[in-house]
Amino acid sequence: MAVSRRAFVRAIGVGGAGALTLPAWVGARGLEAATASPAEAARIAQGRAILRLHSNENPNGPIPAAIRAMTGAFHTAAHYPASTEGAVRTAIAAAHGVRPDQVMLGSGSGEILRLAVQAFCSPTRHLVTANPSFETPATYARTLGLPVREVPLDAGLAIDLDRMVRESRGAGLVFFCNPNNPTGHVHGKERVDTFVRAVLAADPEVVILVDEAYHEFVDDPSYASTLPLIATQPRVFISRTFSKIYGLAGMRVGYAFGQPATLGRMDRLRLSNGVGALAQAAAIASLGEPAQMRREQELNREARAFTARWFTDAGYTVVPSQANFVLVDIRRDCRQFRDACLTQGVAVGRPFPPLTNHTRISIGTMDEMRQAVDVVRRVLA
Ligand code: PMP
Repeated sequence: MAVSRRAFVRAIGVGGAGALTLPAWVGARGLEAATASPAEAARIAQGRAILRLHSNENPNGPIPAAIRAMTGAFHTAAHYPASTEGAVRTAIAAAHGVRPDQVMLGSGSGEILRLAVQAFCSPTRHLVTANPSFETPATYARTLGLPVREVPLDAGLAIDLDRMVRESRGAGLVFFCNPNNPTGHVHGKERVDTFVRAVLAADPEVVILVDEAYHEFVDDPSYASTLPLIATQPRVFISRTFSKIYGLAGMRVGYAFGQPATLGRMDRLRLSNGVGALAQAAAIASLGEPAQMRREQELNREARAFTARWFTDAGYTVVPSQANFVLVDIRRDCRQFRDACLTQGVAVGRPFPPLTNHTRISIGTMDEMRQAVDVVRRVLA
């Protein structure tokens, strides 16, 4: 029987093909789990389907090669996966033209963000981050009682790089998310290079983490990864993930690129076998299919353009996005909007204060986005 990738993901959660209700855990993973509203939890508990446009996942699920690799790796479940991490790092290194010792794995890139805060911030060395941006570094720093300086976005909702530089003096870590979540805005290569140089010059100790979780979705020709900088610059490192374009958010595989000494300061803090055997198999298989990933990028681009156009035609302002989500100014409270959409089966992103009149909508398949805009049309009417 042919099973679509999305149906496969649903079916394995309930122990067999054909079962199409969503198990509770599908609606509650990662950071989104902590922010899932009671209404969403209730809907999931009732077994009612939800269109997941709130977690920036890949709606198509893992590619077939990754599913085959995971299925084939079941028998390795008896073994601790630490000794096989080297193969994953080697595959990532080969795919990106770096050495395996310039790659570190994490249980999702979220773990790397936490390790970065732990390794480089201190009571006297603050974290610099944009606001809004992906929250994990700031949230974790606060959990550890470490100081945080948040830099508001500029008037165009781009990360205010000049102000980030000014706040970098005396900092331990500068977290720079490019493209930024929740806006999807990307800074081009020249601007990023100037920014990185200025941060490094602002303080002799500060370290920069460039979060490139959405790197694979970018098609702005002015953009380029910061990866080449790690060859010469020990105070810059980069995080990436298999959770987004690779469709493996549930497997928890992230990775960092950096110089060995820089990565070593985080590596000694991590659980050395924190990436499971099936996750490792899926990651390696996913790297072997670059043509499939280009296809994923095209599908996202097409559905993203459709969604942005729909909102623009309806008179709403959409932040031009280079990621797999769009941020839309809906000119009303985003919590009420979110709850209203949820009652009609569409889950949109959490609030990103202070942009409380904006909603973040992840890009699903074209069919899903057609369904979603029908719901949104009714809610906004
Ligand atoms: N960075 C950014 C910018 C994100 O948006 C996310 C998840 N939404 C992460 C990191 C963490 O993702 P993961 O742990 O699944 O790699």
